[in-house]
Amino acid sequence: MKADFHCHTTASDGSLSPEALIDRAIEYEITDLAITDHDTTKGYESVITYAQQKGLNLIAGTEISCQWQGKTIHIVGLNVDVNNAPLQAGLLWNRVLRWQRAFQMITKLQKKNIQHVFEDLMPMVQTSMIGRGHFAQLLLNRGIVSSQQQAFDRYLTKGRPGYAAVAWPELSEVVAWITQAGGIAVIAHPHIYKMTSKKLNLMISEFKAAGGQAMEVVNQPRVSSEQTGMADRAVRFDLYASLGSDFHRPEQTWRGLGWLAPMPNRCKPVWELWAES
Ligand code: AMP
Ligand code: MN
Ligand code: MN
Ligand code: MN
Repeated sequence: MKADFHCHTTASDGSLSPEALIDRAIEYEITDLAITDHDTTKGYESVITYAQQKGLNLIAGTEISCQWQGKTIHIVGLNVDVNNAPLQAGLLWNRVLRWQRAFQMITKLQKKNIQHVFEDLMPMVQTSMIGRGHFAQLLLNRGIVSSQQQAFDRYLTKGRPGYAAVAWPELSEVVAWITQAGGIAVIAHPHIYKMTSKKLNLMISEFKAAGGQAMEVVNQPRVSSEQTGMADRAVRFDLYASLGSDFHRPEQTWRGLGWLAPMPNRCKPVWELWAES
């Protein structure tokens, strides 16, 4: 088994179409894949049949934005029922919040003399979700910045001129969207939140109390002290462990699809939850 349970397509801020992502998964000999686009399941839904034809075990997923103590946190939902109405209503709510933020960002960029952003973004985004990644691509396309990273650093992160905050739903609410849709809530990339260890542990315990069942332990190709710390936490809090590259685009060579260290032996792998059912 070679698994990757966290990646993106053009249905959110990834650069590969859902079909091209499946092709890449097959090329990289991945057997089990979850497409986890931000706040939508459209990419997954569009390739269910295609993945079946290719013999890939495709798991329904999404990565949902929420907040805990005022900080944006990402929760992955795995093995959700994509036809669940309350879940889809929640995802739509988040996409509406994303459009509200986008209009604020457009106004802010206009003040920096960056014009006609809406007209350029619409063909790019169409009916899928809008994220800061689309703004980064636009700034790159116009030659205002020389990379996506530079677009974030100069314009799109907190304190920069194009940044606008979002009042995401609370963590406990998002966990409930996932669990009532039969899915497994997973804390995404727990090492990136710039929290003290104590605060991270508090977040994990509140997540668990809300019904969360798993956390990502493996996000990188090599074992690191961060990974060891997360494996220890998964054991300590009795959570299942997930793994995912957070693949967005082939150019990010450090984040390859399926390029992941093995699951530590002491962890309970998240796939046991659906293998049993
Ligand atoms: P959003 O959910 O629209 O606010 O955008 C978050 C996404 O932007 C993340 O999933 C990453 O793909 C990307 N991102 C966030 N921060 C950065 C950064 N500093 N550099 C590059 N990409 C980033
Ligand atoms: Mn993203
Ligand atoms: Mn994320
Ligand atoms: Mn992600």
